[in-house]
Amino acid sequence: MSGPGIKLAKEMEKALKLKDLFGLACLDDPESSRLLRDLRELIHRTRATMVQSGVVSACTRCATNGKGSCCFREMGESFGSIELFVNLVLGSALPEETAFPESCHFVGDGGCRLQAPQSFCLNYFCPELKETLGEEAICNIQLQVGKQLLVAWKLERALARCIEDAGGLGQIGCPSGGD
Ligand code: SF4
Ligand code: SF4
Repeated sequence: MSGPGIKLAKEMEKALKLKDLFGLACLDDPESSRLLRDLRELIHRTRATMVQSGVVSACTRCATNGKGSCCFREMGESFGSIELFVNLVLGSALPEETAFPESCHFVGDGGCRLQAPQSFCLNYFCPELKETLGEEAICNIQLQVGKQLLVAWKLERALARCIEDAGGLGQIGCPSGGD
């Protein structure tokens, strides 16, 4: 069974340390907890839009059949510790094992195992999917995705501020202000 690459393994380890050291302080912070609530709601709406339009079933089939998916391995390797920390705070587990070795570390049997994947993951539609969905459905999804990504970005900033206020990234061996 394979696992994440060296860089992703380090970022996952840092994210878990961030959760241990700062998770409670971040959840107690009024701005972070409000943004977290908003983000959960928006993720729920995005998911509903994607299920309804057929994106979830098409992409899950594609990502788990081992050929040609856009959930390629390098995508998983590009996650940083703060993005992974956001996913931990949202309740996603960070899997130790890679289920589909040719694909992104976060692909599971039911598709993506993260609550808050990256902008590319949410915004990319391959030509086949574009043709199946049609322009109007894609515009609707993109409007919804845009709202989610804006709040996710605000939450990342709020969490980074909380971490700085509570002692900073230096405590997990990162330079202050980096991830
Ligand atoms: S966007 Fe296209 S290539 Fe990417 S996972 Fe979905 S169906 Fe597959
Ligand atoms: S994070 Fe999720 S959506 Fe993005 S490439 Fe990986 S499995 Fe696919």
